Amino acid sequence: MSKPKLTWPVMTLTSGPVDAYPAVLRGLSRPIAYDFDPAFQQFYEDVVGKARTAMRTKEMPVILHGEPVLGLEAAAASLIAKGDVVLNLASGVYGKGFGYWAAQYAKEVVEIEVPYNDAIDPAAVEAFLRKRPDVKIVSLCHHDTPSGTINPAREIGAVVARHGALLIVDAVSSFGGMGIHPDDCHAGIFVTGPNKCLGSAPGLSMLSVSSGAWEKMKSNPDAPRASMLSILDWENAWRHDQPFPFTPSVAEMNGLDAALDVYLDEGPEVIWKRHDRTARACRAGVQAMGLDLWPVREAIASPTTTAIAVPAGVVEADWRAAIRTHYGVAVSSGRSETLGKLIRVGHMGPTAQPIYAAVAVAVLGGALKHVGKTVDVGAGVAAAMESIDATA
Ligand SMILES: *Cc1c(COP(=O)(O)O)cnc(C)c1O
Repeated sequence: MSKPKLTWPVMTLTSGPVDAYPAVLRGLSRPIAYDFDPAFQQFYEDVVGKARTAMRTKEMPVILHGEPVLGLEAAAASLIAKGDVVLNLASGVYGKGFGYWAAQYAKEVVEIEVPYNDAIDPAAVEAFLRKRPDVKIVSLCHHDTPSGTINPAREIGAVVARHGALLIVDAVSSFGGMGIHPDDCHAGIFVTGPNKCLGSAPGLSMLSVSSGAWEKMKSNPDAPRASMLSILDWENAWRHDQPFPFTPSVAEMNGLDAALDVYLDEGPEVIWKRHDRTARACRAGVQAMGLDLWPVREAIASPTTTAIAVPAGVVEADWRAAIRTHYGVAVSSGRSETLGKLIRVGHMGPTAQPIYAAVAVAVLGGALKHVGKTVDVGAGVAAAMESIDATA
Protein backbone atom coordinates (compact mmCIF):
# COMPACT_ATOMS: atom_id res chain seq x y z
CA MET A 1 0.00 0.00 0.00
CA SER A 2 1.48 3.32 -0.98
CA LYS A 3 0.84 6.44 1.00
CA PRO A 4 -1.49 9.01 -0.58
CA LYS A 5 0.58 11.66 -2.29
CA LEU A 6 0.49 15.01 -0.51
CA THR A 7 0.47 17.99 -2.81
CA TRP A 8 1.69 21.47 -1.93
CA PRO A 9 -1.00 24.02 -1.05
CA VAL A 10 -2.56 26.02 -3.85
CA MET A 11 -2.14 29.08 -1.65
CA THR A 12 -0.21 29.69 1.54
CA LEU A 13 -2.00 32.30 3.65
CA THR A 14 -0.11 31.61 6.85
CA SER A 15 1.34 33.99 9.40
CA GLY A 16 4.90 32.84 8.82
CA PRO A 17 6.88 31.43 7.27
CA VAL A 18 5.13 32.91 4.29
CA ASP A 19 5.10 32.54 0.55
CA ALA A 20 8.04 34.42 -0.99
CA TYR A 21 7.92 37.08 -3.68
CA PRO A 22 8.87 35.76 -7.15
CA ALA A 23 11.86 38.13 -7.15
CA VAL A 24 12.97 36.60 -3.85
CA LEU A 25 12.75 33.09 -5.29
CA ARG A 26 14.99 34.25 -8.12
CA GLY A 27 17.34 35.81 -5.56
CA LEU A 28 17.51 32.55 -3.62
CA SER A 29 18.66 30.77 -6.76
CA ARG A 30 21.72 32.96 -7.30
CA PRO A 31 25.15 31.28 -7.16
CA ILE A 32 26.53 30.36 -3.74
CA ALA A 33 29.59 32.55 -3.37
CA TYR A 34 32.65 31.74 -1.30
CA ASP A 35 32.16 33.94 1.77
CA PHE A 36 35.69 35.40 1.69
CA ASP A 37 35.52 36.28 -1.96
CA PRO A 38 35.92 40.07 -2.11
CA ALA A 39 32.79 40.38 -4.26
CA PHE A 40 30.74 38.54 -1.62
CA GLN A 41 32.23 40.63 1.19
CA GLN A 42 31.21 43.77 -0.67
CA PHE A 43 27.77 42.29 -1.40
CA TYR A 44 27.33 41.50 2.32
CA GLU A 45 28.15 45.10 3.25
CA ASP A 46 25.69 46.33 0.64
CA VAL A 47 22.88 44.08 1.92
CA VAL A 48 23.44 45.23 5.51
CA GLY A 49 23.35 48.80 4.19
CA LYS A 50 19.96 48.11 2.56
CA ALA A 51 18.74 46.62 5.83
CA ARG A 52 19.82 49.82 7.57
CA THR A 53 17.87 51.90 5.03
CA ALA A 54 14.81 49.69 5.55
CA MET A 55 15.12 49.82 9.34
CA ARG A 56 15.75 53.60 9.22
CA THR A 57 18.64 53.51 11.68
CA LYS A 58 21.96 55.33 11.82
CA GLU A 59 24.05 52.31 12.78
CA MET A 60 24.49 49.23 10.63
CA PRO A 61 22.24 46.36 11.77
CA VAL A 62 23.62 42.95 12.69
CA ILE A 63 22.61 39.88 10.72
CA LEU A 64 22.68 36.60 12.65
CA HIS A 65 22.54 33.41 10.65
CA GLY A 66 19.56 31.57 12.00
CA GLU A 67 15.84 32.29 11.98
CA PRO A 68 14.70 35.06 14.34
CA VAL A 69 14.48 32.93 17.45
CA LEU A 70 18.29 33.06 17.30
CA GLY A 71 18.23 36.84 17.36
CA LEU A 72 15.87 36.91 20.32
CA GLU A 73 17.82 34.38 22.36
CA ALA A 74 21.09 36.12 21.46
CA ALA A 75 19.62 39.44 22.66
CA ALA A 76 18.75 37.87 26.02
CA ALA A 77 22.15 36.19 26.36
CA SER A 78 24.15 39.24 25.32
CA LEU A 79 22.34 42.12 26.95
CA ILE A 80 21.20 40.68 30.27
CA ALA A 81 23.93 40.48 32.91
CA LYS A 82 23.84 38.43 36.11
CA GLY A 83 22.86 41.38 38.29
CA ASP A 84 20.05 42.71 36.06
CA VAL A 85 16.36 42.92 36.83
CA VAL A 86 14.26 42.44 33.68
CA LEU A 87 10.65 43.49 33.23
CA ASN A 88 9.06 41.12 30.72
CA LEU A 89 5.81 42.24 29.10
CA ALA A 90 3.63 39.28 28.15
CA SER A 91 0.47 39.56 26.10
CA GLY A 92 0.94 36.31 24.24
CA VAL A 93 3.01 33.24 23.62
CA TYR A 94 6.13 34.97 22.27
CA GLY A 95 6.14 37.70 24.91
CA LYS A 96 5.77 35.09 27.63
CA GLY A 97 8.44 32.90 26.05
CA PHE A 98 11.02 35.66 26.09
CA GLY A 99 10.75 35.74 29.87
CA TYR A 100 12.04 32.16 30.05
CA TRP A 101 15.18 33.13 28.15
CA ALA A 102 15.59 36.24 30.27
CA ALA A 103 15.36 34.12 33.42
CA GLN A 104 18.43 32.14 32.33
CA TYR A 105 20.60 35.29 32.50
CA ALA A 106 18.95 37.78 34.87
CA LYS A 107 19.05 38.19 38.64
CA GLU A 108 15.28 38.50 38.58
CA VAL A 109 12.51 38.62 35.97
CA VAL A 110 9.39 40.52 36.89
CA GLU A 111 6.40 40.46 34.59
CA ILE A 112 3.28 42.26 33.50
CA GLU A 113 0.99 39.70 31.93
CA VAL A 114 -2.40 40.35 30.34
CA PRO A 115 -4.85 37.90 28.77
CA TYR A 116 -3.61 36.67 25.39
CA ASN A 117 -6.33 38.48 23.46
CA ASP A 118 -5.41 41.86 24.95
CA ALA A 119 -2.51 44.34 24.81
CA ILE A 120 -0.07 45.87 27.32
CA ASP A 121 -1.10 49.26 28.72
CA PRO A 122 1.80 51.79 28.69
CA ALA A 123 0.40 53.36 31.88
CA ALA A 124 0.77 50.01 33.64
CA VAL A 125 4.40 49.84 32.51
CA GLU A 126 4.96 53.37 33.79
CA ALA A 127 3.42 52.57 37.18
CA PHE A 128 5.41 49.35 37.44
CA LEU A 129 8.73 51.04 36.66
CA ARG A 130 8.03 53.72 39.24
CA LYS A 131 7.69 51.00 41.88
CA ARG A 132 10.72 49.09 40.59
CA PRO A 133 13.45 51.60 39.77
CA ASP A 134 15.93 48.70 39.72
CA VAL A 135 14.56 47.40 36.37
CA LYS A 136 17.39 47.71 33.82
CA ILE A 137 15.90 45.94 30.82
CA VAL A 138 12.35 45.70 29.50
CA SER A 139 11.26 43.17 26.88
CA LEU A 140 8.27 43.49 24.59
CA CYS A 141 6.80 41.52 21.73
CA HIS A 142 5.31 44.11 19.37
CA HIS A 143 3.05 41.78 17.42
CA ASP A 144 2.34 38.62 19.34
CA THR A 145 1.62 36.56 16.26
CA PRO A 146 -0.16 33.58 17.89
CA SER A 147 -2.75 36.12 19.11
CA GLY A 148 -2.78 38.49 16.13
CA THR A 149 -2.53 41.45 18.52
CA ILE A 150 -0.38 44.59 18.47
CA ASN A 151 1.17 46.23 21.53
CA PRO A 152 1.68 50.01 21.66
CA ALA A 153 5.46 49.80 21.20
CA ARG A 154 5.98 53.53 20.62
CA GLU A 155 4.27 54.54 23.85
CA ILE A 156 5.91 51.76 25.86
CA GLY A 157 9.29 52.65 24.34
CA ALA A 158 8.89 56.27 25.45
CA VAL A 159 8.07 55.15 29.00
CA VAL A 160 11.08 52.81 29.11
CA ALA A 161 13.40 55.48 27.72
CA ARG A 162 12.25 57.98 30.37
CA HIS A 163 12.99 55.37 33.01
CA GLY A 164 16.51 54.92 31.60
CA ALA A 165 16.15 51.19 30.90
CA LEU A 166 16.96 49.33 27.67
CA LEU A 167 14.11 47.91 25.60
CA ILE A 168 14.29 44.65 23.66
CA VAL A 169 11.62 44.54 20.96
CA ASP A 170 10.50 41.45 19.08
CA ALA A 171 9.20 42.96 15.83
CA VAL A 172 9.66 39.77 13.84
CA SER A 173 6.15 39.67 12.40
CA SER A 174 5.36 43.39 12.22
CA PHE A 175 8.45 45.07 10.76
CA GLY A 176 8.02 45.53 7.03
CA GLY A 177 4.23 45.19 7.24
CA MET A 178 3.49 48.36 9.18
CA GLY A 179 5.27 51.52 10.24
CA ILE A 180 7.50 50.31 13.07
CA HIS A 181 11.25 50.89 13.30
CA PRO A 182 13.85 50.63 16.07
CA ASP A 183 14.02 54.37 16.70
CA ASP A 184 10.22 54.74 16.79
CA CYS A 185 10.19 52.73 20.01
CA HIS A 186 13.62 53.74 21.40
CA ALA A 187 14.71 50.12 21.08
CA GLY A 188 18.00 48.98 22.55
CA ILE A 189 17.79 45.78 20.52
CA PHE A 190 15.11 45.39 17.85
CA VAL A 191 14.80 41.95 16.32
CA THR A 192 13.16 41.08 13.04
CA GLY A 193 13.65 38.71 10.14
CA PRO A 194 13.03 38.11 6.44
CA ASN A 195 10.45 35.31 6.74
CA LYS A 196 7.39 37.33 7.69
CA CYS A 197 6.44 40.66 6.16
CA LEU A 198 9.54 40.92 3.96
CA GLY A 199 8.45 37.79 2.10
CA SER A 200 11.67 35.80 2.12
CA ALA A 201 12.78 32.47 3.60
CA PRO A 202 13.33 31.64 7.28
CA GLY A 203 17.02 31.50 8.14
CA LEU A 204 18.24 34.93 9.25
CA SER A 205 17.77 37.36 12.11
CA MET A 206 18.10 41.11 11.60
CA LEU A 207 18.98 43.11 14.70
CA SER A 208 19.25 46.81 15.21
CA VAL A 209 21.43 47.59 18.20
CA SER A 210 21.55 51.06 19.78
CA SER A 211 24.81 52.56 21.01
CA GLY A 212 23.59 52.13 24.59
CA ALA A 213 22.93 48.45 23.97
CA TRP A 214 26.40 47.95 22.43
CA GLU A 215 27.90 49.54 25.53
CA LYS A 216 25.82 47.34 27.81
CA MET A 217 26.81 44.17 25.95
CA LYS A 218 30.49 45.12 25.97
CA SER A 219 30.40 45.70 29.71
CA ASN A 220 28.67 42.35 30.29
CA PRO A 221 31.43 39.84 31.08
CA ASP A 222 29.04 36.97 30.35
CA ALA A 223 27.94 38.17 26.90
CA PRO A 224 28.65 35.22 24.56
CA ARG A 225 31.77 35.27 22.40
CA ALA A 226 32.82 32.67 19.83
CA SER A 227 29.27 31.36 20.00
CA MET A 228 26.25 31.18 17.72
CA LEU A 229 24.49 33.31 20.36
CA SER A 230 27.07 36.08 20.14
CA ILE A 231 26.04 39.49 18.83
CA LEU A 232 29.42 41.01 19.72
CA ASP A 233 31.24 38.64 17.34
CA TRP A 234 29.34 40.18 14.43
CA GLU A 235 29.78 43.86 15.32
CA ASN A 236 32.15 44.60 12.44
CA ALA A 237 31.39 41.65 10.18
CA TRP A 238 29.39 43.86 7.83
CA ARG A 239 32.58 45.66 6.75
CA HIS A 240 33.89 44.34 3.43
CA ASP A 241 37.45 44.26 4.82
CA GLN A 242 36.62 42.41 8.05
CA PRO A 243 36.35 38.63 8.47
CA PHE A 244 33.17 36.76 9.32
CA PRO A 245 33.32 34.96 12.68
CA PHE A 246 31.52 31.99 11.08
CA THR A 247 30.30 31.23 7.58
CA PRO A 248 27.24 33.36 6.90
CA SER A 249 24.15 31.82 5.25
CA VAL A 250 25.03 32.79 1.71
CA ALA A 251 21.80 31.70 0.04
CA GLU A 252 19.69 33.44 2.69
CA MET A 253 21.65 36.64 2.14
CA ASN A 254 20.82 36.38 -1.56
CA GLY A 255 17.15 36.08 -0.63
CA LEU A 256 17.30 38.95 1.85
CA ASP A 257 18.95 41.18 -0.74
CA ALA A 258 16.11 40.52 -3.18
CA ALA A 259 13.49 41.01 -0.45
CA LEU A 260 14.98 44.36 0.58
CA ASP A 261 14.97 45.45 -3.07
CA VAL A 262 11.26 44.61 -3.30
CA TYR A 263 10.61 46.50 -0.07
CA LEU A 264 12.58 49.62 -0.96
CA ASP A 265 11.54 49.71 -4.64
CA GLU A 266 7.80 49.35 -4.08
CA GLY A 267 8.06 51.69 -1.12
CA PRO A 268 7.49 50.93 2.58
CA GLU A 269 4.42 53.17 2.92
CA VAL A 270 2.77 51.55 -0.11
CA ILE A 271 3.50 48.10 1.30
CA TRP A 272 2.18 48.92 4.79
CA LYS A 273 -1.01 50.17 3.17
CA ARG A 274 -1.64 46.92 1.32
CA HIS A 275 -1.06 44.97 4.56
CA ASP A 276 -3.57 47.20 6.34
CA ARG A 277 -6.17 47.03 3.55
CA THR A 278 -5.91 43.24 3.38
CA ALA A 279 -6.35 42.85 7.13
CA ARG A 280 -9.29 45.28 7.20
CA ALA A 281 -11.06 43.41 4.42
CA CYS A 282 -10.41 40.10 6.16
CA ARG A 283 -11.81 41.37 9.46
CA ALA A 284 -14.87 42.84 7.75
CA GLY A 285 -15.59 39.58 5.93
CA VAL A 286 -15.09 37.35 8.93
CA GLN A 287 -17.37 39.44 11.10
CA ALA A 288 -20.03 39.68 8.37
CA MET A 289 -20.23 35.86 8.52
CA GLY A 290 -20.99 36.12 12.24
CA LEU A 291 -17.56 34.97 13.39
CA ASP A 292 -15.65 36.71 16.16
CA LEU A 293 -12.15 38.12 15.99
CA TRP A 294 -9.80 36.78 18.65
CA PRO A 295 -8.49 40.21 19.79
CA VAL A 296 -10.70 41.70 22.47
CA ARG A 297 -10.87 45.03 20.56
CA GLU A 298 -10.52 45.53 16.83
CA ALA A 299 -8.19 48.47 17.56
CA ILE A 300 -5.45 46.04 18.64
CA ALA A 301 -5.94 43.63 15.71
CA SER A 302 -2.76 43.23 13.68
CA PRO A 303 -2.53 44.47 10.09
CA THR A 304 -0.31 41.48 9.30
CA THR A 305 -2.33 38.63 10.83
CA THR A 306 -6.04 38.14 11.43
CA ALA A 307 -6.85 35.77 14.28
CA ILE A 308 -10.38 34.38 14.22
CA ALA A 309 -11.91 32.76 17.29
CA VAL A 310 -13.06 29.17 16.77
CA PRO A 311 -16.87 29.12 17.02
CA ALA A 312 -18.45 27.00 19.75
CA GLY A 313 -18.87 23.37 18.71
CA VAL A 314 -16.15 23.47 16.05
CA VAL A 315 -12.82 21.67 16.46
CA GLU A 316 -10.07 23.96 15.24
CA ALA A 317 -7.89 21.20 13.74
CA ASP A 318 -10.87 19.88 11.76
CA TRP A 319 -11.74 23.33 10.49
CA ARG A 320 -8.17 24.01 9.39
CA ALA A 321 -7.89 20.56 7.79
CA ALA A 322 -11.12 21.19 5.85
CA ILE A 323 -9.68 24.46 4.53
CA ARG A 324 -6.60 22.62 3.36
CA THR A 325 -8.36 19.52 2.00
CA HIS A 326 -11.29 21.12 0.21
CA TYR A 327 -9.66 24.30 -1.06
CA GLY A 328 -5.90 23.69 -0.93
CA VAL A 329 -5.28 26.70 1.29
CA ALA A 330 -2.81 26.64 4.18
CA VAL A 331 -3.65 28.83 7.18
CA SER A 332 -2.05 28.91 10.64
CA SER A 333 -3.23 27.45 13.92
CA GLY A 334 -2.64 29.13 17.26
CA ARG A 335 0.38 28.12 19.33
CA SER A 336 0.59 26.70 22.85
CA GLU A 337 -1.89 28.83 24.87
CA THR A 338 -3.85 29.85 21.81
CA LEU A 339 -3.68 26.48 20.03
CA GLY A 340 -7.18 25.17 19.33
CA LYS A 341 -8.80 28.50 20.15
CA LEU A 342 -8.21 30.41 16.93
CA ILE A 343 -7.24 30.21 13.28
CA ARG A 344 -4.85 32.75 11.78
CA VAL A 345 -4.70 34.18 8.31
CA GLY A 346 -1.44 35.92 7.53
CA HIS A 347 -1.26 39.08 5.47
CA MET A 348 2.47 39.21 4.97
CA GLY A 349 4.68 40.13 2.04
CA PRO A 350 3.23 38.82 -1.22
CA THR A 351 -0.05 37.71 0.41
CA ALA A 352 -0.69 41.21 1.75
CA GLN A 353 -2.84 41.89 -1.30
CA PRO A 354 -6.45 42.80 -0.57
CA ILE A 355 -7.94 40.17 -2.89
CA TYR A 356 -6.42 37.43 -0.74
CA ALA A 357 -8.75 38.58 2.03
CA ALA A 358 -11.72 37.61 -0.11
CA VAL A 359 -10.14 34.21 -0.72
CA ALA A 360 -9.46 33.76 2.99
CA VAL A 361 -13.02 34.65 3.95
CA ALA A 362 -14.42 32.30 1.29
CA VAL A 363 -12.38 29.32 2.46
CA LEU A 364 -12.88 30.00 6.18
CA GLY A 365 -16.64 30.19 5.69
CA GLY A 366 -16.83 27.44 3.09
CA ALA A 367 -14.92 24.97 5.25
CA LEU A 368 -17.18 25.50 8.24
CA LYS A 369 -20.04 23.61 6.62
CA HIS A 370 -17.73 20.57 6.41
CA VAL A 371 -17.33 20.67 10.19
CA GLY A 372 -20.92 21.16 11.16
CA LYS A 373 -21.54 24.89 11.06
CA THR A 374 -23.16 26.97 8.37
CA VAL A 375 -22.40 30.63 7.84
CA ASP A 376 -23.33 33.07 5.08
CA VAL A 377 -20.19 32.89 2.94
CA GLY A 378 -21.66 35.27 0.36
CA ALA A 379 -22.22 37.96 2.98
CA GLY A 380 -18.63 37.54 4.15
CA VAL A 381 -17.12 37.83 0.69
CA ALA A 382 -19.38 40.79 -0.11
CA ALA A 383 -18.22 42.60 3.04
CA ALA A 384 -14.58 41.89 2.22
CA MET A 385 -15.04 43.25 -1.31
CA GLU A 386 -16.85 46.31 0.01
CA SER A 387 -13.97 46.99 2.37
CA ILE A 388 -11.44 46.58 -0.44
CA ASP A 389 -13.33 49.08 -2.58
CA ALA A 390 -13.81 51.50 0.30
CA THR A 391 -10.10 51.60 1.15
CA ALA A 392 -8.76 51.89 -2.40
C1 LIG B 1 7.81 34.11 13.70
C2 LIG B 1 8.13 34.80 14.96
C3 LIG B 1 9.33 34.58 15.62
C4 LIG B 1 10.32 33.59 15.10
O1 LIG B 1 9.96 32.34 15.54
P1 LIG B 1 9.46 31.14 14.66
O2 LIG B 1 10.23 29.97 15.12
O3 LIG B 1 9.73 31.48 13.22
O4 LIG B 1 8.01 30.99 14.92
C5 LIG B 1 9.57 35.29 16.77
N1 LIG B 1 8.69 36.18 17.26
C6 LIG B 1 7.52 36.41 16.65
C7 LIG B 1 6.58 37.41 17.24
C8 LIG B 1 7.21 35.73 15.48
O5 LIG B 1 6.04 35.96 14.86
